[in-house]
Amino acid sequence: MNKKELKQEVEELKDLENNWDSYGACPITERSIEKANYIIDLIPRESLSANPCVVPINDGSINLEWTYKNKELELETDGKQIIYLKCENSFCEEGYLQLDDKNFKKKFYDFFEWLGCKRYPCPKCEAGELYDSNTGGMFGSMIECDNPKCNYNYSDL
Ligand SMILES: [Zn+2]
Repeated sequence: MNKKELKQEVEELKDLENNWDSYGACPITERSIEKANYIIDLIPRESLSANPCVVPINDGSINLEWTYKNKELELETDGKQIIYLKCENSFCEEGYLQLDDKNFKKKFYDFFEWLGCKRYPCPKCEAGELYDSNTGGMFGSMIECDNPKCNYNYSDL
């Protein structure tokens, strides 16, 4: 999953018509699509390894959601702030992060740190994370996957 595919999923929500959930849901607005794309532009690359989900809401808005191990993260924006919901073992916390907060980027990235996303997802397998097995070596790096069943490696030695 990359950002382009994620935006494609958002784009497809345009096709939802009035009452798309048969409980009287509103169609997804152009503005909701812009807002979802705004968040997608902000999310760090590693968050893409934790199966982000584009979820239409019956009021016409769009949530971005991650479920990772025993944790769940939902993000939405109203254009002024990020509205977040963090759940861990069914204990949930809701809050706001102002877009003009001077530590915005750090606080925003903290969501994904908390979620436990892999920083360097393996390009070859789902489960692995890349690490440098030549750390402390004099020259270059030897990048390997930590999944014993995967043989991905890359070296510039
Ligand atoms: Zn791998």
